[in-house]
Amino acid sequence: MATVAINIATGTFQQEEIIVGIDLGTTNSLVAYVHPDSRQPVAINDQGRGSIVPSVVHFPADGSDPLIGTEAREYLLTDPQRTIYSVKRLLGKSYGDLNAHADQLGYKVIDDNSEGLVKIRVGDRFYSPIELSADILKELRARAEHALKTPVNRAVITVPAYFNDSQRQATRDAGRLAGLEVLRIVNEPTAAALAYGIGLDPDEEKTVAVYDLGGGTFDVSILRIQQGIFEVLSTHGDTYLGGDDMDRVVAEHWTSAFQLPAAFRSDPHLQQQLRLAAEMAKKYLSQHTDFTTHLTDQTGQNITVTLTRAQFNDLIRPLVERTIAACRQAVQDAGLGNEGKGVGGFKGEDLAKGNPSHPPTLSPSYPKLDAVLLVGGSTRVPLVYDAVSAFFGQPANNSLNPDEVVALGAAIQADILAGNRRDVLLLDVTPLTLGIETLGGLLDPIIPRNSKIPTKAGRQYTTSVDGQVNLKIGVYQGERDQVSQNRKLGEFILSGIPAMPAGLPKVDVNFLLNADGILQVEAIELRSNTRQQVEIKPQYGLTDDQVEQMLMDSLVNAKDDVAARLLIEARTAAEQLLYQVNNFVRKNRPHLTEEELTATEAQAEKVRAALAGTERDPILKSMDELDELTRPYAERVMNISIQQAMAGKKIS
Ligand code: ADP
Ligand code: MG
Repeated sequence: MATVAINIATGTFQQEEIIVGIDLGTTNSLVAYVHPDSRQPVAINDQGRGSIVPSVVHFPADGSDPLIGTEAREYLLTDPQRTIYSVKRLLGKSYGDLNAHADQLGYKVIDDNSEGLVKIRVGDRFYSPIELSADILKELRARAEHALKTPVNRAVITVPAYFNDSQRQATRDAGRLAGLEVLRIVNEPTAAALAYGIGLDPDEEKTVAVYDLGGGTFDVSILRIQQGIFEVLSTHGDTYLGGDDMDRVVAEHWTSAFQLPAAFRSDPHLQQQLRLAAEMAKKYLSQHTDFTTHLTDQTGQNITVTLTRAQFNDLIRPLVERTIAACRQAVQDAGLGNEGKGVGGFKGEDLAKGNPSHPPTLSPSYPKLDAVLLVGGSTRVPLVYDAVSAFFGQPANNSLNPDEVVALGAAIQADILAGNRRDVLLLDVTPLTLGIETLGGLLDPIIPRNSKIPTKAGRQYTTSVDGQVNLKIGVYQGERDQVSQNRKLGEFILSGIPAMPAGLPKVDVNFLLNADGILQVEAIELRSNTRQQVEIKPQYGLTDDQVEQMLMDSLVNAKDDVAARLLIEARTAAEQLLYQVNNFVRKNRPHLTEEELTATEAQAEKVRAALAGTERDPILKSMDELDELTRPYAERVMNISIQQAMAGKKIS
């Protein structure tokens, strides 16, 4: 599988293709790789422009190519309708998901259909968040190719731990649109831990907190790492809290404290100037204690504004306190809290102004963590560092560049996947869904794709026919709704089920996927304790390309698949109903009138006719009618049999 690339610049062969790691951030994005010689992860800084690419896309009004990154950022306030930022917030979301937040954005989010994924309108063109994210990824890819002087075709991309399946899928699709094969989607906190070297030794067991305060989002995750497997014990945060809010409070403070002209609130250019100055002050105060600058108003007049670190701390304290509340929650959810003893050393009042002298009444008990890692540009703010360290009762680790740490970790993960680190256990998830065949040839997922391994899952089934003594368990892999379009891994027959009416046997099917990627499938009939099991190696003979292809097929066919599934489900239900009605008539013929028998047969015929077609609605309609028709006499017959049963009982 290893590819040989020629380095055009040096004319030498490169043994390994470079797989990059990408942090696709809400505010900023970066691409990194592991240097083949030093074996160290490095953020790619192409042409000395710095490693950070602001996640902003600007579409010039003249229709020329979109600008991406720093150049695009310049248009945020002056041409907001054509300048898209924070697109990550929209990724994999429907308009319904966004509700109130959509109108806070400067650009136009289209509400075409609340079920579908959101679209953004720029002029006469519509863009999906996937396309816009792909634009950012293309830029990162181009920078990597330019700096490394080699084609870059594969990547690992990070996402927040709280991203759901559709957001992860959207990220994958964006990568594909940018011409990248996305080998893996990795959680940002996992990447951060990897960058700090945590999880590389399969024998170590660690619990760490990752505190990530970016431009517009905040999250904190507690991870447990054992045998190279990263488990997210808990995650909390606020998707509308970050460094931008710090800039905003500084700008508001200046507006009132220095009585800035009203134009600073209304004129986009002045707003932009104020916002940038506020951000500059914030960053400066991460290193120094006093900041001074000049703003230029609409008449060209200079206005001096100042800010001390103490003032800044006062302004942002409420924001920082909100992040600490989320940390407390995460610690408790992870089961690391020590209720009633004052979890964490930090309480709201510790950060409160003045009076540091009142002693704590309870000795603080801190969550037992091996490390607290700081991620995101805003963790450079000293108050943030202090508050986080105080809360967790240990100095937070910020030895790596907080802007780069996620991308560096992604690069390490990419390097592991490239097979360059044989000492490291591959941190694995199952790339495709594993499940069994149910009625009508549908796939019933048991272990969804992207589940971390080892993992186990199970579900209960029953028989569909009276007296059924065998149950065929067909095991499949893939994302399509019908088993015929997925990959068959094997099948076995659970035999020896005692004869019972349909629906009475209880069959547990359990899947156990171990760390070596071997799947054990076990079926047990609970009433009789009959059991049967097989072992399968799902990944055997399957290349990465085939996996990707299967994923792609499932996307391309998603709509048809859903329609087919609904039709099959209706058919199966109709067949079940016909079976039941037939049974009922056979057993209770003496209790039914001639008209009832004829009407039932006529309606059953209608169901069969509908079944011959390919439409769902006629099937459902004819079933409903059959149900309505038979219900009254089914009830009557039921009463007769109850009476008979009662009559037969001897009362002593
Ligand atoms: P995201 O992960 O959301 O894309 P980042 O981690 O890149 O965001 O963080 C961006 C934020 O970090 C911005 O609000 C920026 O102003 C802030 N930031 C960057 N450097 C500093 C600094 N030295 N001091 C304070 N904040 C900073
Ligand atoms: Mg980030």
